[in-house]
Amino acid sequence: MSTAPSPRTPEIATKLPAVGTTIFTVMSALAAEKNAVNLGQGFPDFHCDPQLLEDVTAAMAAGHNQYPPMPGIPALRDAIAAKIEALYGHRYSAAAEITVTAGATQAIITAILAVVRAGDEVIVLEPCYDSYVPNIELAGGSVVRVPLVPGSFRPDFDRIAAALSPRTRAIIINTPHNPSATVWTEAEMRRLEELLAPTEVFVIADEVYEHMVYDGARHESVARFPGLAARSFIVSSFGKTYHVTGWKVGFVAAPAPLMAEFRKVHQFNVFTVNTPMQHALARYMANPAPYLELPAFYQRKRDLFAAGLARTRFKLLRSEGSYFQCVDISAVSDLSEADFCLWLTREIGVAAIPLSAFYGDGFDQRVVRFCFAKKDETLVAALERLARL
Ligand code: PMP
Ligand code: GLN
Repeated sequence: MSTAPSPRTPEIATKLPAVGTTIFTVMSALAAEKNAVNLGQGFPDFHCDPQLLEDVTAAMAAGHNQYPPMPGIPALRDAIAAKIEALYGHRYSAAAEITVTAGATQAIITAILAVVRAGDEVIVLEPCYDSYVPNIELAGGSVVRVPLVPGSFRPDFDRIAAALSPRTRAIIINTPHNPSATVWTEAEMRRLEELLAPTEVFVIADEVYEHMVYDGARHESVARFPGLAARSFIVSSFGKTYHVTGWKVGFVAAPAPLMAEFRKVHQFNVFTVNTPMQHALARYMANPAPYLELPAFYQRKRDLFAAGLARTRFKLLRSEGSYFQCVDISAVSDLSEADFCLWLTREIGVAAIPLSAFYGDGFDQRVVRFCFAKKDETLVAALERLARL
């Protein structure tokens, strides 16, 4: 009698050798374990507007529970197109140029898969959000890393120009910026527009923090710059704007030929995005007040948090936008950024994110990131603990 071979899992050669568990997951788990105040992972700890919940419930009760149209329900795409036109002066066709996505994360990988071919180069500006590089690698592209200027985190156009090559397929930009909290100026956007004018390079513009810009500055969407809009995928996220990061709903706006390619990928990696949330968001967007009031809402939290931090030995970097505040830790500790964040979580009871996590080579400039999208009482509790430093 022959014996059956024992079951064996075939060897899997990893496609992403450098990737482990994300820093956000690691720090949130440690914060929960140590009962620390979690100012690490970027998400609000307060509720969204109850109106939004009522709108979702109403949509479900009305029977909006089956697949929506592949690019998103028309009412939501109309609302998105109207908002972009009102704020940034560029009219996208709701039918052909807007697609609703499963958050910005799916939007970004879908845009990358739509344009990047094996061997193409894609420029990222470091520090950068952690999904960009693995996304490019999964598409078979080569990552070309250009640092933002250390200290100021401004774009260095000489270095971007030097990184452009005949193989450059795309550049990913992000303003307001995670993690540095800087916001690109109009002059910087114009420089990018001029630099790319003679090229065939696409732009993936990660604008998830578009409604969080402070001190009277304005968000410089690529939609405001015709030379950029014509080559860009704009990515945004309702999770950030409406305090519902767990809903995972976002959108992409792009010129029709780019959107046509985007949708070819979208229909086979997600096909559609949950229906009742789309109906609720479409209704809720009719009132612009919630996003127009967001800068004041978050600026007050930023200032409350910064005023408390000013009593510590942290050196505060400017937070121009996003819901992050970066601090220089050199007067407080000799530890590396990553070790400092572990120590801060375990010993002081406040979780933060090391900026080194946003660099391919782990560059350590003694800066860590706090998220201030929290209830005032959470920020006050964190500040009481940080006052020991
Ligand atoms: N880009 C940036 C810069 C972000 O900070 C985030 C939020 N983590 C995302 C993309 C992903 O957004 P979403 O939660 O909508 O997928
Ligand atoms: N955008 C958030 C951050 O940067 C959360 C990211 C995540 O959990 N993937 O902290």
